[in-house]
Amino acid sequence: MLLNTCKKCILDDGGCCTSVHITIHKKEAKEFIKIKNNNQIPSGHSFQIDEDDPNLYTYKSGDDPCMFLDKNQLCEIYENRPTICRTFPLMWIENKQKLKYYVDTNCPLYDTNTPSELMKNITNLPYPNLMKKIGELDFDISDNDYIELNLI
Ligand code: SF4
Ligand code: SF4
Repeated sequence: MLLNTCKKCILDDGGCCTSVHITIHKKEAKEFIKIKNNNQIPSGHSFQIDEDDPNLYTYKSGDDPCMFLDKNQLCEIYENRPTICRTFPLMWIENKQKLKYYVDTNCPLYDTNTPSELMKNITNLPYPNLMKKIGELDFDISDNDYIELNLI
């Protein structure tokens, strides 16, 4: 979704925009809220406020592509896509008030980019402080698919 070297696996199988499970801060959720308010959330998808933090939402697309992925496999809200869509395959958790970064090794970019190249995903974010406000993404760091960035 991001780097110039993105392999666009999205063109083959929907890439990381399929079976989406993402955390979105309210500051960047305008497009999602609009769809929700118009009762246009597709069947089988969910967009809900976080139980523990009213500033956060969770969007899940089930086995489907994201509701914003158009028929040409392009993001309809690309300019306003959420932070996680900008940083992927870089993910994060907050630990002792610091961010720890992980890479989803299922992304082909993992094979073709150095850690410092992957870290470029977090530069020039429209809301750089949102990663800390989001705090901890919903993924299992004990899963072998995720590798802590400084261990690579
Ligand atoms: S918002 Fe856009 S970039 Fe993010 S998962 Fe959906 S289609 Fe992909
Ligand atoms: S999984 Fe990686 S290579 Fe595939 S579309 Fe997403 S960012 Fe690009």
